[in-house]
Amino acid sequence: MTDLLWKSLCALALSVALASAGNAATLVEPTLHLRGGGGRVALTLDACGGKTDTRILSALVENRIPATIFVTGIWLKHNAAAVEIMRAHPDLFELENHGGRHIPAVDTPRKIYGISSAGSPDAVQAEVESGAAALASAGGPAPKWFRGATAEYSPSAIAMIRKLGFKIAGFSVNGDGGSLLGAKETARRIAAARDGDVIIAHINQPTHAAGEGVVQGLLALKQKGMTLVRLDDAEDVGNDGTTD
Ligand SMILES: [Zn+2]
Repeated sequence: MTDLLWKSLCALALSVALASAGNAATLVEPTLHLRGGGGRVALTLDACGGKTDTRILSALVENRIPATIFVTGIWLKHNAAAVEIMRAHPDLFELENHGGRHIPAVDTPRKIYGISSAGSPDAVQAEVESGAAALASAGGPAPKWFRGATAEYSPSAIAMIRKLGFKIAGFSVNGDGGSLLGAKETARRIAAARDGDVIIAHINQPTHAAGEGVVQGLLALKQKGMTLVRLDDAEDVGNDGTTD
């Protein structure tokens, strides 16, 4: 082997090593929008685990506000009464896949907001498929959308989830800051949503002030004449290869 060839092989090996280290380090938080026009805003609510915020669920039913609810296998197991209410209003609620065990869909080992990632491609696949299986055994239609815990992904996990047949639900308005914001700020953020926005908030934290803000914000949006829709009611456009 010539010296020159050896050097170029070393350079190639180094650049491959750097590229894979770069991939391991880079997570994406994809955005999602509706194709614009008509003052439509999509409401998505995560049910990660824990209980049901009945302030939000009742307000949605009473005011006929449609929503896409991302549920985990854990949440489904412990919230049968809420699931029954959602199933009784198929015109309002679309239930989608938030994973079997609320484990971030990241295929390398790391922590995201203190939660351990799935850590391998097999574990990401298990999280996605167990979430879909839990929804199927709860008797509903098969989910078409997936949103991973923490809504952050490795690009290779996104590609895999797409191959499993799911679109990935990003968002464009962080309504409740992981359910940790106060009622006033949550209401302000949600009420400020514009044509084509996709809001994310939580429906599993009944003791948090944010839930009250979710209700106020949604009522304000309606008052402004915006039309709330589900992800399935519109054409959705995500980045990072999440919907195309
Ligand atoms: Zn979650």
